[in-house]
Amino acid sequence: MDVYGLIGNPVEHSLSPPMHEAAYEELDIDARYVTFEPAEGEASDAVEAAETLGVAGLNVTIPFKQAVLDAVDPDDLAARIGAVNTIDFTGDRPTGHNTDAIGAVRALREHDVTLDGSAVVVGAGGAGRAISFGLADEGLNVSIANRTVRKAKALAGDVPGADGHGLDALGDLLTGADVLVNATSVGMDEDRSPVPSDALHDDLAVLDAVYSPIETRLLRDGAAAGATTVDGAWMLLYQGVEAFERWTGRDAPVETMNEALRGEL
Ligand code: NAP
Repeated sequence: MDVYGLIGNPVEHSLSPPMHEAAYEELDIDARYVTFEPAEGEASDAVEAAETLGVAGLNVTIPFKQAVLDAVDPDDLAARIGAVNTIDFTGDRPTGHNTDAIGAVRALREHDVTLDGSAVVVGAGGAGRAISFGLADEGLNVSIANRTVRKAKALAGDVPGADGHGLDALGDLLTGADVLVNATSVGMDEDRSPVPSDALHDDLAVLDAVYSPIETRLLRDGAAAGATTVDGAWMLLYQGVEAFERWTGRDAPVETMNEALRGEL
């Protein structure tokens, strides 16, 4: 039996175990997906221990996404983002990947969103950073708006061609924009949006990284404005799909994983 896992703290309510185990069952793969909660400062030890114990693949979540960089060879995207959420143990050294970035891009693409033109990313934390790199790599011109303007400008300095702003610039930035992503925690367990509803329009595709609730205020406002809307569970799904495919070398049973994930939300 293969063992896959997740390290983070806390991981108690993670949706990854049911999502991955549904895929193993569907494809008749003899594997389990388990969660581990190392203490702060023990990320590298945890990765080494997992490798020693023959763990086949590891996901990484908050607060260890940066800390595990010491214990893996990151691929180009993960190195540029400076964070790893998926570790593969099949090579001589553990390799680190960032499937959050790929998950956001794939969530948009699977909803027939054309990835060219300009994108506005709201938020400059971990999710904002990964998503900004993912969209810039697709060739979009990325503008980053954040409550703390200094962080938006710092992130924009790292992302090719990006510019950084405060939230007060959102109205101007969204005029003529093609893609909007909420990468703040605003809307999580609350009926609030980080974007004024009158800035939304029907040429926009709106992805909300927040997945609890699935239908956020931003997505409701977006739908009312005629925008294409993509909820955060799609991003979560596709980061898991990318990890599964990287680890197993097989096409993921996307429908099955999606049903398992949404059944938990
Ligand atoms: P983080 O690193 O803590 O960043 C939080 C971001 O939210 C920062 O930009 C912060 O702005 C902003 N923010 C927080 N409270 C705010 C408020 N009241 N008004 C305006 N901005 C506010 O968190 P993260 O890891 O990036 O996660 C952000 C969200 O993305 C969370 O809801 C998380 O669940 C979600 N997420 C989803 C997925 C997925 O697969 N769907 C993956 C990763 C994360 P400041 O810089 O000004 O503090």
